[in-house]
Amino acid sequence: MTRFLSPRLQVAIGLLSLTVSLIFIGSALGLLPNEGRAEAEARATLSGALAVQLASLASRNQAAAVQETIDSVVERGPDILSIGIRDAEGHLTASSKDHVQHWQDPPAGMSTPTLMQVPLLNGDTPAGRIEIAFAPLRDDSMLFGLPSKLLIFIGFIAGAGFAGYYFVLARALRELDPGRAVPDRVKAAFDTLAEGVLILDDEERMLMANRAFADKMPKNFDPELGRSASDLPWLSQAAQPLAGEQLPWRIAMQTGHSVLGTAMGIRDSAGEMQRLIVNATCIVDGKGVARGVIATFDDVTAMHRTNEQLKASIHQLHLSQAKISEQNEKLTRLASSDPLTGCLNRRTFFEQAERLLSVALAAGQQLSFVMIDADHFKAVNDEFGHLVGDGVLIGLAGLLKECCRPPHLLGRYGGEEFCILLVGAGDVEVEYWAEQVRVAIAGVRDWLPGGGRVTVSIGIATLGRAPCALADLVKRADDALYAAKSRGRNRFVNWKSLPRKSKAADIAPVAERSF
Ligand code: GH3
Ligand code: MG
Ligand code: MG
Repeated sequence: MTRFLSPRLQVAIGLLSLTVSLIFIGSALGLLPNEGRAEAEARATLSGALAVQLASLASRNQAAAVQETIDSVVERGPDILSIGIRDAEGHLTASSKDHVQHWQDPPAGMSTPTLMQVPLLNGDTPAGRIEIAFAPLRDDSMLFGLPSKLLIFIGFIAGAGFAGYYFVLARALRELDPGRAVPDRVKAAFDTLAEGVLILDDEERMLMANRAFADKMPKNFDPELGRSASDLPWLSQAAQPLAGEQLPWRIAMQTGHSVLGTAMGIRDSAGEMQRLIVNATCIVDGKGVARGVIATFDDVTAMHRTNEQLKASIHQLHLSQAKISEQNEKLTRLASSDPLTGCLNRRTFFEQAERLLSVALAAGQQLSFVMIDADHFKAVNDEFGHLVGDGVLIGLAGLLKECCRPPHLLGRYGGEEFCILLVGAGDVEVEYWAEQVRVAIAGVRDWLPGGGRVTVSIGIATLGRAPCALADLVKRADDALYAAKSRGRNRFVNWKSLPRKSKAADIAPVAERSF
């Protein structure tokens, strides 16, 4: 709680508490003058004197003088309400006119400040008593077990004393301001620095804060006497409250070493987070005892803001790059694939096929080239229309993709013709593969409306022992496909199985062919 009160306020409250306590103690010891008690004592004295006088008159049986005295005393005494004389049997023998109304026996027969009774003696024999009823003491009211006048007095002291103490302390503390430990000309020199400078004593109280430091501080910042620098609302880099033990000046005081480059922050008078790099160095006296800390505050708010903007820009750049890469990929895909079937287009297929053939030739690896052509496709178009024909081509491509995954290649050679390069496949493997594909296509019942089927013819050319150009393989597969068509379609033919004569005649020089 005291953390939130200024030291000036704390000292004023302390002094006031001390004063009030002293008044209470004085009152308890009976040292304070008590008006009520003095008045009660005066009434007792008066009652005693009156009793002597009335006893003397009564003993001389001067009833008229007694009555006259009573009436005269009641009339003159503003505090006396009534007087009565009672004999030993309790009968009222003389009284002022309204004594019965004012009198009532005091509790336990003991006189009180308002009901006093004095015994009358005849020689040594009790002859009755004098009863005097007084008005209530001027102020004998009690509050919380204490005379209310005392409480009012204490209230006055509390109010006036607090204001007085606070005012006097403010003046005294201004004179005793520890900031005065730093001469004004030194302070003026620190004020010229762009860097914030703070000098603390060994209890972290601010002795000097230069202008640059004060500018970064919250509203109403005033490095007054005793104000601890650690009480300011310091924040971490992540704008979270900073614990006292993390403050660089405390660490510097505890370790005796300089603490450099602590990144921390505070909200300035406009509520803006000021980002600071703090260096704290312990001030040690001649005996090596830590006397305080000098801390410097480098404002890196603008740099931090620029960094944040840079980070945001880099992030945007990455996003743009990712978008561009995605677009490029899309473009490449579009440029390299056939728009209807999604297979590689003819140009890309042959670029990649050339590379795979070189690798296979260099590694002595097996490789097969296959051409697949839909049978009587013109008739399909004629009978069902081009849209249905397109659907069949898309379906065929889908099925072939299933059977021809990378590293094998699948391309659309043109029209209703597909070309395939099977890496690592020799005659046995490619013939097995071709038969599987043929059967799979022929087995589909609903290629066409009404459940019509579609078949394909397949031409195969495998890479033999002798080196061979891609164009040779294409030509051979084409010849084999032609043979498959001639032999009745819906079948595969391996170029190797063709009669020798037809093979040699059909191969044109490689340089003359292009894809
Ligand atoms: P064959 O069994 O001898 O191969 O007979 P075919 O009718 O399939 O052969 P042909 O070469 O005479 O006809 C091919 C037909 O393929 C001609 C053309 O209309 C059709 N075609 C080519 N490209 C497309 C295409 O992209 N979509 C559709 N729907 N049809 C195509
Ligand atoms: Mg064709
Ligand atoms: Mg055809």
